[in-house]
Amino acid sequence: MTPLAADEPFQFACSSQVPCFNDCCQDLNQFLTPYDILRLKKHFGLTSAQFLEQYTSQHIGPETGLPIITLRPDYAADLKCPFVTSHGCRVYEDRPASCRMYPIARAIFRSPLTGQIEEQFMLIKEPHCRGFEQGPQMTAHEWMQQQDLTIYNAMNDRMMTIISLWRQQKQGPPDLKANRMFSMACYDLDAFRQYINTNGLPNNLDTQDIDLKTFPTDDIALLKVAFKWVLYEFFGVTESKI
Ligand code: SF4
Ligand code: SF4
Repeated sequence: MTPLAADEPFQFACSSQVPCFNDCCQDLNQFLTPYDILRLKKHFGLTSAQFLEQYTSQHIGPETGLPIITLRPDYAADLKCPFVTSHGCRVYEDRPASCRMYPIARAIFRSPLTGQIEEQFMLIKEPHCRGFEQGPQMTAHEWMQQQDLTIYNAMNDRMMTIISLWRQQKQGPPDLKANRMFSMACYDLDAFRQYINTNGLPNNLDTQDIDLKTFPTDDIALLKVAFKWVLYEFFGVTESKI
């Protein structure tokens, strides 16, 4: 990986014409974010529990002890992604953020000066990937725009804020109950919807920016509330106070 300044152009293109077509969709250790899961379960018309059961594995995050989700690859076939076909990706329009971002890695941090989230980029150059030999020059932001990453980044940055707070404030992994609640809110959105329908939301949750009437059908609004709920339940803070 080499550092890439935000305004530094690089050359890259990927298509079904490249000799390495599909090579990057095997030998996978593919993390899924809550928003990735939301998109993929809708793609297949599954509930979040059904999607998690059919396509993923749950692990313990090595640094935080929080639950993390990976796509379950085909162990009998070079750890291929379950969604790769000879014609390419069968979930292309809803592919995960990491697939969209490649060959860039994006890290975020909160500036101690402005309190705003800032980005850093790295270019991932792997020997098998021939995409660097072709295509136009572009910057990281142009690439992210081309890959429709705006909504993915906005949602994933919320998750990163939670993980970063856990690292700073908690002394170890969550207990069993906290682990279950975190998994439900972040990954099993349909179960979270049921939980909120039964138990309601805490009175102090800052939901002014979300139309709660859309909850029954709007998974994006629900996931935004789930992130707020995790912040409130686990850290006692509201989003606006971070
Ligand atoms: S989701 Fe699609 S692009 Fe991503 S690894 Fe699987 S087949 Fe490849
Ligand atoms: S060019 Fe790179 S990203 Fe595209 S198919 Fe080949 S290995 Fe994958």
